Amino acid sequence: MTGISDKERQTLLSMVEDVAGPDVREVAIILLTHKGELTDEVISDELGIKLNQVRKALYLLADLDLASFRRERDKTTGWFVFFWKVHPEKIRDLVKEKQENVLDKISVRLKYEQGNMFFTCETEGCKRVTFQNAMELDFICMVCESRLESFDNSKIISVLEKKVDQLNEILH
Ligand SMILES: [Zn+2]
Repeated sequence: MTGISDKERQTLLSMVEDVAGPDVREVAIILLTHKGELTDEVISDELGIKLNQVRKALYLLADLDLASFRRERDKTTGWFVFFWKVHPEKIRDLVKEKQENVLDKISVRLKYEQGNMFFTCETEGCKRVTFQNAMELDFICMVCESRLESFDNSKIISVLEKKVDQLNEILH
C-alpha cells in the first residue's frame, strides 16, 4: 500500500524516533498502517495521546517532509478538520541527505589528515598535535612533558578513504 520495503519502513521509524522522539514514532506507525488519510482526532483516540501532542508530532513529520495535511471545514461545527497523510517514499531522500552530510564531514576530516603532519607523546590521554603546534612547543608535550615524536596517520587516512569510496558508491 505504501510502496516501501520492510527495511525502508524500519529505517523510517528509527530515523523518526531519533530525530523526533517516541511519540512521533507512534504517530508515524498509525499513519503507515492505515490506508489513506487520518484526522488528528482519530490518531489521538487510537493512541491515547493528547490531541496537542499528536498535532505536535504531525507537524514534526511535516517538517521532515514525511507527512502532509489538507483541511476541510466541518459543515455542522464550522471548525476546520485536518486530514493527514504519510509520505514514506520520502525516506529515501532523507537517508540520502543524511549520508551526504556524513560524506561531507568525512571528506573534511580526510583533507585535514592528508594536509597535516602530526606529533605525539604516545602517553595515554594526551592528544596528538600538528607539526605547527609541535614546533611552537619545542617538541615537548604540553601535558606530560614527554618528547613529541612523529605520528603516522596513514592508517587513519586509508580508513577514511575507504569510507569516502563506500559513500560515493552508494550516493552516485
Ligand atoms: Zn603527553
